[in-house]
Amino acid sequence: MRPTGPLHLGHLFGALDNWVKLQSEHDCFFMIADWHALMSEYEDPSKISQHTIECAADWIAAGIDHEKSAIFVQSHVKEHLELYMIFSNFVPLGWLERCPTYKEQLRELSSRQLHTYGFLGYPVLQAADILLYKADAVPVGKDQIPHLELTNDIAEKFNKLYGSVFSEIKPLLTKTPKLLGIDGKKMSKSYGNFIALGDSEEAIKKKCSQMFTDPKRIKLIDKGHPDQCNLYAYYNLLKRGYASEVYDYCAKAHVGCKECKKNLAGVISDYLSDIRKKREKLLKNKSDIRDILKDGAEKAGKAASETMSEVKKAVGLL
Ligand code: SF4
Repeated sequence: MRPTGPLHLGHLFGALDNWVKLQSEHDCFFMIADWHALMSEYEDPSKISQHTIECAADWIAAGIDHEKSAIFVQSHVKEHLELYMIFSNFVPLGWLERCPTYKEQLRELSSRQLHTYGFLGYPVLQAADILLYKADAVPVGKDQIPHLELTNDIAEKFNKLYGSVFSEIKPLLTKTPKLLGIDGKKMSKSYGNFIALGDSEEAIKKKCSQMFTDPKRIKLIDKGHPDQCNLYAYYNLLKRGYASEVYDYCAKAHVGCKECKKNLAGVISDYLSDIRKKREKLLKNKSDIRDILKDGAEKAGKAASETMSEVKKAVGLL
């Protein structure tokens, strides 16, 4: 994950909950991608280190266990850039220009000047991030499959040029529930439409009051269509047992949207209460978080340096 802002409910349901489960079945490496953050935030990188610490706190509060998995920062393991450099020499520009997520990111982050050499090459760094650990699998969403295909293309080209070092990486596709932002668009840090894991009750209340609802329900007496309302999707995910009651009061126009939004704010606050408490406690002792990241970098660095020795020998640099 790129440390470019607060983690939100979309991260929790779209990734973190799944990562927590994966820890008991796999040897996991979880990386805070600060080099990738710098690629888009190069004009003002002042917040990257703060976001890095907060990201680690959010992960741990959400259940990522540093005793089971390596939690580390990309720039703390120098081999990422070394492998990136080696790959950069032979990756054709056309592969990068065609990458669909590159185009999507350019659109999403249109307020930044990202027609840069570094940003075009971010899938190459991403390939290095994955291949450095000789990963068997990477948990991804469907939209990230092209990245993994590109990673496999890069691995194949390396193997052809220098000898077989890398194996094929498989996607670990998990069905994750989709949660839209408060404006009904994809929840994203760049759109500022998210509910953060660390948001206070007050902030959650304010955000819920701004949420988009069923556009056909204008007056209190209008019967609603919960299936077309973003709030109902939230209830379904966060308090499934209560969702049928919401469906009923909405469809029969027994409760207005204002009250429904207030109820939802309470549901979200309760849901995030434990995470918020753990997160606050962790952030009071940042040196503990730094120690965890240091341990993670040592663990990751050991695996990374083994791969780099193999790579350098294959290329002829050792
Ligand atoms: Fe949405 Fe609730 Fe209003 Fe129904 S009552 S339209 S679920 S906000």
